[in-house]
Amino acid sequence: MCSDSSAPDAHQTIAVSGTVGESPASAADPQKIRLEKRRGAVVLLSGGIDSATTLAIAIAEGYDCHALTVAYGQRHAVEIERARSVALFFGAPHQTISVDLASFGGSALTTDENVPHHGAHEIGGNIPATYVPARNTVLLSLALARAETLEARHLFIGANVLDYSGYPDCRPEFLKAFEDVANLGTKAGVDGGLPFRVHAPLLQSTKAEIILRGAELGVPFQLTHSCYDPTPNGLACGLCDACILRRKGFHEAGVEDPTPYAG
Ligand SMILES: [Zn+2]
Repeated sequence: MCSDSSAPDAHQTIAVSGTVGESPASAADPQKIRLEKRRGAVVLLSGGIDSATTLAIAIAEGYDCHALTVAYGQRHAVEIERARSVALFFGAPHQTISVDLASFGGSALTTDENVPHHGAHEIGGNIPATYVPARNTVLLSLALARAETLEARHLFIGANVLDYSGYPDCRPEFLKAFEDVANLGTKAGVDGGLPFRVHAPLLQSTKAEIILRGAELGVPFQLTHSCYDPTPNGLACGLCDACILRRKGFHEAGVEDPTPYAG
């Protein structure tokens, strides 16, 4: 389980649950503190299946996880609350930061443009209307800034190339290039010591594989949200790309989908 090894400051929206259970003696152990710094991680948590499973993997691998959710003006803002619930479930410190990407427009996720509703066979190929300009660059930059303040060196993102092959900022070459940016553009990176690493453990997984992995690790799927176009009361539409891929993934994994769909 994750522990909160940092002192939250007054301006952060941080929700911490669970008990750390650490004695003062062990907390003061320099070797333990060094180890915790080496294992410190910032996990981008959107509230969807992929990022929730990524958090579960990071925890299972022994990282000291700090979850970060970005409110970027997405129309499916219900996912921000879901992210908070997932972080609470895992006992991970959680922070939400607001960055108004909607003021730039350019995406069906941040404007009044219709979110496409079509069949899974049509997904992929072209960059979809739900692409948010430079979103993962912005998200990873914020995760990097948070990591540097925490003296953490690991960034986790639930990027995936298979189901969303149209998103250029989910490709492995992009993630590797961002790792280089992290090490070239930060004080922590040029001061020496451990380099930053970008982890995308689900990069090559299908949605069904992600769901199976999540099920093994106890991910609370009932708390996650995938829909790009939820109803006013927060129900998943059942028809957008994200809903179609979620339903298909649960079906292929043979795992029950706890989502109530509107359509
Ligand atoms: Zn939907």
